[in-house]
Amino acid sequence: MTDQTAQVTERGTEQLTERSCDVAVIGAGVSGLRAAQKLQGSGVSVRVFEARDRVGGRVLSPRRGTGDRAIDLGATWFWPNEQRVIELVAEAGLGIFPQHMAGDMLFQNGPDQSGPVQRLSGNQLDVPSGRLVAGMASIAIALENSLVPNTVELGEAVSAVIPDGDEVVVHTQTQRVVASHVVIALPPALAVARIDFGGALGEHVSTVAAATPVWMGTTIKVVAVFERAFWRSRGLAGAAFSYAGPMREIHDMSGPDGQPAALFGFCSTPPSDDAPTTDAVIAQFAELFGDAASHPTSVDIMDWRREPHTTPPEALAANNYQTYGHAAYQTPAMDGRLHWAGTETSIEAPGHVEGALAAADRAVIAITGLAPPTEPDKEDQ
Ligand SMILES: Cc1cc2nc3c(=O)[nH]c(=O)nc-3n(C[C@H](O)[C@H](O)[C@H](O)COP(=O)(O)OP(=O)(O)OC[C@H]3O[C@@H](n4cnc5c(N)ncnc54)[C@H](O)[C@@H]3O)c2cc1C
Repeated sequence: MTDQTAQVTERGTEQLTERSCDVAVIGAGVSGLRAAQKLQGSGVSVRVFEARDRVGGRVLSPRRGTGDRAIDLGATWFWPNEQRVIELVAEAGLGIFPQHMAGDMLFQNGPDQSGPVQRLSGNQLDVPSGRLVAGMASIAIALENSLVPNTVELGEAVSAVIPDGDEVVVHTQTQRVVASHVVIALPPALAVARIDFGGALGEHVSTVAAATPVWMGTTIKVVAVFERAFWRSRGLAGAAFSYAGPMREIHDMSGPDGQPAALFGFCSTPPSDDAPTTDAVIAQFAELFGDAASHPTSVDIMDWRREPHTTPPEALAANNYQTYGHAAYQTPAMDGRLHWAGTETSIEAPGHVEGALAAADRAVIAITGLAPPTEPDKEDQ
């Protein structure tokens, strides 16, 4: 089937565009974009439907500081064993640097034990990891840039995926798209909460999907930017563990050479509570790191619990992480036409960006029957 944009039909008073393609990918996070890239590389026609007005999903890196420097409100790190991320970053020529770890960490007990802030020798909180100069979202942007122009359609939330004979029909508010295959590249719990599968998903898969937690989907991430990384000159790593404020874990999020200078924290706020205020997080930074932390140049508080295109309310209490990479996701559903991607479905590194890439690769192999090309053995060259 080739990519066709065809008739416009009337649905009530609305106009509905009718289209067809080989594969409809739902979600333009890292996983959906990777699947689209590999499928187009195999000569398959692809359309990607994305609910938000941006690509990347749980990678989100707004500019802070000068040039292309950014902070990460979603994923931050990659690790040395994550081959797909490392290869992708190298292919795209993205700048990388190591996570800052040097210095001592801080520890603070809860108010009921009201201990002072303790300085612990060394940094037991961070492990060696890599960061991207332009933020983790630069991976998503690089993937999107590698696609045929206009492959990704933003602001197109998919509401239904219904089998029809040998095909699958994907519905958005404005389009009806007929495809041979569909790739579901979003958190499984979100997929079953928001998309009507016409009863064709099967009870077992639907139950597993509804029980699968959204990785980091109940997290609030706080990033504060400062004029300079003042904690480093005091021999501090910027790492802290605290029971005494909204943020539990704090890490250095500065760019290379300390610019932009930034600290970030993960909050431990219960799902039903409001996100902490800017004043509350500044107060905690100042209690831990001193007065110099009282005057950030910016504070971002990203509440992933309230992102409708990441975490549906139904998934806030899901906690069965055994469902990650579940067997139900490893084989296609809907008579071989529906393929799971998305990090939660991966056997390798589920939850990580690496897992999002691995899940996409599995879906692509199932559709094309082709393993992705491997690197030539260096000794053969
Ligand atoms: C705060 C935080 C910190 C993290 N830290 C790290 C880290 O340091 N390292 C790491 O490796 N990973 C980290 N992660 C996890 C990492 O971000 C994810 O593993 C990865 O981005 C998931 O990609 P994905 O494509 O599977 O899903 P998503 O990024 O969730 O993409 C799904 C896409 O589908 C879209 N969508 C949703 N519903 C619809 C619909 N109905 N129709 C069309 N589109 C739809 C969404 O808008 C989204 O763009 C972190 C995540 C968070 C939130």
